[in-house]
Amino acid sequence: MARYSDSAVETIKQRLRLSEVVGSYVRLTKQGNTDDYKACCPFHSEKTPSFLVHDREGFYKCFGCGKSGSMFNFVMEMEHVSFPEALKILAEKAGVELKVQNEYEKKESDRTKTVQDIYNRIMNSFHAYLKSQKEASFAREYLARRNILPQTIDNFKLGFATEDPKWLYDFLRKNNYSDEILRETGLFSRNYENLPLFRNRVLFPIRTWQGNCVAFGGRDLTGESKAKYINTPETSIYSKRHNLFGLYESLPELKKREEIILCEGNFDVISLHQAGLAYAAAPLGTAFTEEQAKLIKRYCRKVNLLFDSDTAGRNATVKALIILQHNGLESRVIRPFPDDIKDASQMLEERGAEELARCCLNTEGGFSYLVHSALKMYDIRQPRGKSSVFKEVKPFLDATESRIERQDYFKYLSDILSVPQEQIVRDYENLTGTDSSREKDSEEPVAAVSVIKSGPELQSMLLILNNPDWFNRFKSEIKFNFLSDIHARMLYTVLEDAQREEIASRDLLFQMISDEDLRNCAFNSLSDDEYRPKDIEGAVHDVIVNLKLRRLEEKRANVQTLIDTAQMEGSSSADFIPLLETATELDREIMSLKAQITEV
Ligand code: ATP
Ligand code: MN
Repeated sequence: MARYSDSAVETIKQRLRLSEVVGSYVRLTKQGNTDDYKACCPFHSEKTPSFLVHDREGFYKCFGCGKSGSMFNFVMEMEHVSFPEALKILAEKAGVELKVQNEYEKKESDRTKTVQDIYNRIMNSFHAYLKSQKEASFAREYLARRNILPQTIDNFKLGFATEDPKWLYDFLRKNNYSDEILRETGLFSRNYENLPLFRNRVLFPIRTWQGNCVAFGGRDLTGESKAKYINTPETSIYSKRHNLFGLYESLPELKKREEIILCEGNFDVISLHQAGLAYAAAPLGTAFTEEQAKLIKRYCRKVNLLFDSDTAGRNATVKALIILQHNGLESRVIRPFPDDIKDASQMLEERGAEELARCCLNTEGGFSYLVHSALKMYDIRQPRGKSSVFKEVKPFLDATESRIERQDYFKYLSDILSVPQEQIVRDYENLTGTDSSREKDSEEPVAAVSVIKSGPELQSMLLILNNPDWFNRFKSEIKFNFLSDIHARMLYTVLEDAQREEIASRDLLFQMISDEDLRNCAFNSLSDDEYRPKDIEGAVHDVIVNLKLRRLEEKRANVQTLIDTAQMEGSSSADFIPLLETATELDREIMSLKAQITEV
């Protein structure tokens, strides 16, 4: 994916005022003595103007339909173009930049193409090496031991990287690639420019949906390396969150079946394909992303999740389910394999292809999986237990767009929890602040912008989004998993990505929010002083403490449920005392956190 330069964006913003840009499409009226302008909103039909342009802050907002954004968003919407195209249009409007931009772009795209050529070329060289060289016989035996057939090796173009530290550099230099380009490929060590990253490893080519190789995952063969895998870092042609290992190889079957199996490891992917399930892919050593969901949505409607059955795998499953739901993909979870077999590749090794294929048909609906995992955590004979289960599955309900579908889930919950369906609906509406009866007969149907209800988690993330320099401090105390609100989690991911890609411009940062409603919500927060406190350090501190406090209070409530149950059932004191101790400990922690808030 192309990266846009921070400086180009900033220069455009320096040269153009938002009102100039907007003013060339709609008629603006100046608002008294302020820097603001008003207009009739171009995005929905209205007679009284509710579209505000804040020139100084550089964003617009419509109070009628809720749309808001920067000058780039405005052009994107008006011209129906993508971000890079909007950038071009505005660069041209800004004048001088255009020429520089074009030359720069051309050079960049030539270089990107060269890096791409290198990858496609060496994918073939590494593959040939694995198949024919004597040095690779150990790798061939390794794969054979894991029941991987030659046909699978060909199909995925698996390769072998020699131990020889000079080979790759010499090979590429001989083919006239410059040192500068070689640096950009990410194939060499950062500190020693001609030392290749992959040595004595089996290579899994990572290919785009068009089949271009853009990266490698390199599996250690000796069992002695610190890193089981080494992967290509992010480069001008490779971004982890936009790719899936095995997607390209899955496409024919994927399109036919309109479903995919998402698993954890590269070895699982090739094992599944070999077992006749040639529609399996895996994220690249990180959590499944929104971008990957959008990518597979082009080809299929249904996703079967096959993550490891350990705690990490279960957490990954829950996260993935919500992302899938948010993207309107039907989800199913493949049930854990019998006899402690942990993943697909072990299944293939120990039981063979047929058994693996058979086990993958044993699935459960995504929502049912979530409910049943929650049921294992809480006692639903207690009212608190019921509401805890409900809270646990709420992010999935939030992520459900269709109201009809949501009603089905309410019904399912009502049966399982033995709570009348109307009551569940009412609780849900209270928690989210939506009211389905009112939603229905709202008058003029304006553009499809739903307003996101911001709870404490989202508000915390908006504070950090408005003050991204504080993200590190925040991150050191609040981990991703700590958050349960889907939108708060999205902002967290965006901030992490922006940090990794060293993005400093606010517009680029906001542009990375792929959910439109959330992006609107982010832009709206720009006009809210709450997110621009005088004492930012204190505000960040408070936000962290409050989030922790909420979590502890939830825990405390659950322990109370257990205590009540134990009391009712007349349990022995041996069961009872540890619970009371936990409760006391939690109370102490809660007190000490509360004290920290008032201190500030
Ligand atoms: P194996 O079956 O040989 O253990 P695997 O491919 O199943 O290998 P996992 O350990 O299940 O690998 O890990 C899942 C994926 O996470 C890998 O395929 C790889 O993409 C990534 N990964 C694992 N370990 C690392 C690491 N140390 N560094 C970077 N990525 C890793
Ligand atoms: Mn594995």
